[in-house]
Amino acid sequence: MGIRVAKFGGSSLADAGQFRKVRQILLSDPSRRYAVPSAPGKRFSDDIKITDMLYHCHRLAQRKQPYAELFDQIAQRYLDIARELEIDYDLKPQLDEACDLIRTGSPDYAASRGEYFSGLLLAKYLGWDFVDPIDMIKFDRQGVFASEWSNQVVADTLKDHEYAVIPGFYGSLPNGEVRTFSRGGSDITGAVVARGVGAELYENWTDVSGFLMADPRIVKNPKRIAQLTYRELRELSYMGATVLHEDSVFPVRKAGIPTNIKNTNCPDDPGTMIVMDGTESKPLGQITGIAGHKNFSLLSIEKAMMNSEIGFGRRVLQALEDFGVSFEHLPTGIDTMTVILPDADLVERKEQIIQRIEEYTHPDSVELTSGLALIATVGHGMVRQPGSAAKLSGALARAGVNVRMIDQGSSEFNIIVGVDIPEFERAVQAIYNAFVE
Ligand code: ASP
Repeated sequence: MGIRVAKFGGSSLADAGQFRKVRQILLSDPSRRYAVPSAPGKRFSDDIKITDMLYHCHRLAQRKQPYAELFDQIAQRYLDIARELEIDYDLKPQLDEACDLIRTGSPDYAASRGEYFSGLLLAKYLGWDFVDPIDMIKFDRQGVFASEWSNQVVADTLKDHEYAVIPGFYGSLPNGEVRTFSRGGSDITGAVVARGVGAELYENWTDVSGFLMADPRIVKNPKRIAQLTYRELRELSYMGATVLHEDSVFPVRKAGIPTNIKNTNCPDDPGTMIVMDGTESKPLGQITGIAGHKNFSLLSIEKAMMNSEIGFGRRVLQALEDFGVSFEHLPTGIDTMTVILPDADLVERKEQIIQRIEEYTHPDSVELTSGLALIATVGHGMVRQPGSAAKLSGALARAGVNVRMIDQGSSEFNIIVGVDIPEFERAVQAIYNAFVE
């Protein structure tokens, strides 16, 4: 029987009722052998996540302000869960110890306690082993995650534990100090554990039934994405669609393990399956999803005979590199080159960048226009399918949207258009209607 690793997000463990659902999910399938919990999240919209409260305790401690009352609220949430679930385990001494250590510990130590206590309770509730990731998830001296080292230690450690709970989000530096991933990092722990134990499936349990084909704030009731490849996911999340921590893709993709996004509150929903590249192609003509971002600038450079001037492109990009600016897209014409840049990278440097480009390339004109939104339409179903780009631009034309830029990579599975920001929502809706409805 293959092994499944199940990671549960904060909303899946927000209170005793959610813990019950998690237990039921885990015990309903004996192949679910390793559980990776987050810290309890919000129980209602104005609630505060335990992780945020722990960071706050640490900040107060740093300023030598009292934080015991705030920590008590955190402790109470765990104690309530334990009491309601009748878990026969006294957490109090460990909670007191953590409260004390926050005074002198790092912010990472404080934050890590959220997952630690969540994991302790879940392990007791299930009757599974508790394995502290401090001994398995390794970071180097610079604080960079050591993926191969961790993979080896996870594999060696977990072979001795048939069923175990491993808290997400943290591990340790070579000196033994706690180190966390960036926010949302329990997704990464889950993926690392899945790779380490050679899982057949990585289940990521959250509070939605998978990815949607478009942002529901723009498109009403968009369809769910039943299946997509890791590459499609990468394109969509790069363009703003988020459910999964980006770094969590790497370990499972490398090991050829699919990821299933599932809903703890509707466990029978199939969710979204993320599969290896090339596993499954979509029916021809169909797209997988649409995602987009606002606030980009267009840098347009014109120079007669540019196409035959060797090194022109390199000089433009050198000017950007001088200012540490990375570019998003680079559509070119015969005597024009356009560079799409995120506005955030340009703040207060626009004039200097233009000057540097003039100095390096002596162009006929350079112009920088901001106020652009980019929309990516992604799907393997568009590959070698005549008419995809026409369908897309036709839909935008009918909706009265002016396309400022269009870029289709030669892989053909991602068409990116740039439109003026006020037309962004209308454009996304028009593309969705053309391909999906
Ligand atoms: N608890 C951490 C956070 O809120 C990590 C996680 O939930 O994945 O960011």
